[in-house]
Amino acid sequence: MGQKSAIEWTDHTFNPWWGCTKVSPGCVHCYAETLSSRYRYDVFGPRKPRRTFGEAYWQEPLKWNRQAVQLRTRMRVFVLRWQMFLKIITVLK
Ligand code: SF4
Repeated sequence: MGQKSAIEWTDHTFNPWWGCTKVSPGCVHCYAETLSSRYRYDVFGPRKPRRTFGEAYWQEPLKWNRQAVQLRTRMRVFVLRWQMFLKIITVLK
C-alpha cells in the first residue's frame, strides 16, 4: 500500500495495482500471489480483475517527495511489490 512501509530497507511502497498472471516456472512460488491471497484478493490470472486504487493513492508519491524536500533527505520507494509491470508489454504483443 502507499503507507509507511514495514519493510526495513524502504520508506514507502507504491503499487499501481495488485495482480498478475503466471507465465513461467519462476512464478510457481509467487510471493505477490501468496500475499494477495492472504489478504483475500483474488487478482491473479489472465481474466481476474486487478485491485486498483483511487486518485488519493496516486498523490502519495508527490506527498512523499514534498516531505523529503522538507526533511532534506531521500526516501526509498519500493514500486511494484504486488505485480510485474513488464507483463503488460507481454500481453500487448
Ligand atoms: S508477480 Fe512475478 S512471480 Fe508473480 S506471477 Fe507475476 S511475474 Fe510471476
